[in-house]
Amino acid sequence: MTKIISEVTQLISPYRFEIVEKELNKRDSDLVIRPTLACICAADLRYYTGNRRKEALKKKLPMALLHEGIGVVLKDSQNGYRKGDRVVIVPNVPGYIYDEIKYPTPEDCCEACKKGVHFENHCKNVHFLSSGFDGMTQSKMVHPGLCAVKIPDEVPDNVAVLSELVTVAYNAAYKAYQAEKLNSKTKVLIFGDGPVGYSLYTVLHHIFNLPKEMIHVVGKSSDKLAHFKHATKYIFGDELKDDFSLSFECVGGKGITSAVDLSIKKMVPGGMIVLMGVSEEDVPINTRDILEKGLTLVGSSRSSRINYKTVLEHMKDPDFQESLRELDRSENFIIEQPTDLNLAFDFAASKDYWGKIYLKLNQKNY
Ligand SMILES: [Zn+2]
Ligand SMILES: [Zn+2]
Repeated sequence: MTKIISEVTQLISPYRFEIVEKELNKRDSDLVIRPTLACICAADLRYYTGNRRKEALKKKLPMALLHEGIGVVLKDSQNGYRKGDRVVIVPNVPGYIYDEIKYPTPEDCCEACKKGVHFENHCKNVHFLSSGFDGMTQSKMVHPGLCAVKIPDEVPDNVAVLSELVTVAYNAAYKAYQAEKLNSKTKVLIFGDGPVGYSLYTVLHHIFNLPKEMIHVVGKSSDKLAHFKHATKYIFGDELKDDFSLSFECVGGKGITSAVDLSIKKMVPGGMIVLMGVSEEDVPINTRDILEKGLTLVGSSRSSRINYKTVLEHMKDPDFQESLRELDRSENFIIEQPTDLNLAFDFAASKDYWGKIYLKLNQKNY
C-alpha cells in the first residue's frame, strides 16, 4: 500500500461544499487519476438540493459529488496504463474489486456478481462514486485499474465524458436485445426528452442500427424534442398508435405513472417496458392492463465496466460523436474552488436547460 494525499471537495450538507485533505490507500492494482472533466447527473443534484430522504443524506454525506467523468493517469502502473493516458473513470466498483480480501472472487461477492460481468451493475456490495463514496471533485483519485477504461485517440474529451450516461442507455437497450425484443426493425417508444432519453435515441440508432424514424419519442418540451432530429416526436403522446412491442421509460419522479400507463396502452400483447427513471416515492401503475396484455416490465440501472469498452469503441464513429455532441450545448463551468461548484450546481438546479452541464476540474495543475 502506498499513501496518496488528495484534496477532496465534499458536500457536507445541502448547498455547502468544503475542502478536506485525505490520505488514500493505493494498492498496486489501483491507478492514481487526476479528474479533468465531469458532468452533473440528476443524482448529484438530488444530494446538492437535499432532495433525498433524510436518512440517505445523513448516511451518505459528507461526500465528493460527480460520477460521470474522465481523467488523466498520473503514474505508470503495472497493469498497462502509462502516465498521461486519458481514461474514463467507471463509477461502478463491484464489491469483489473494491475489497479482494473480503471477496476474493465474484462468486464470493453476491448473486449479481455471480451472474457475470454483465450483471455486476446490480452488485449488492457495490461502491458507487458519489453515492456513499467520494466522487470526482478531488485533486487525485485512487481508483481500481479494472474500473478505468482507456479513451481511444479518436474520441475527444467532450464525447468521452458522456460514457457513463451512454453506457446506462446501452445497458437498458442490451437487456431488451438479450430478451429478443430489440432488432433493427423494432418500432420503439421512448418516454422522456432529457439526456437519458436522448442517449437512448442515439444508442438505438448508432449501436443497434435502428432507423431514426422507427424511434418514437414522447416529451413535454418541443424545444428539447427538436434535438432528436430524425425521430418521430410527440408532445404528451395521446395520438400514438398502439402497435409498439418495446418501450423505455426515461422520465423519473412523479411522471413515471403517466408514462408507464400510456406505454401500457400503446403496447401489443407480450411487449416489454424497460424502466429507467428514479423515484424517491412509490409509483402506482395500472397492473390490470399489464396482466391482460402479458407485458414484461424490466428494471435497468447503471452499467458495468464491460459496457464502457463497447461504447468507447462505437464512439470512434464520427457520426455517433456528432450525435452525442448535441448534449454539449449548455454552459460549461471551470471549477477552481468550492464556490465554483455552487455556481454550476445552482445553475443545474434552477434552469430548465437542454443537455449536460460540463465541469472542468483541476485545470490549474497542468
Ligand atoms: Zn448518473
Ligand atoms: Zn457483488
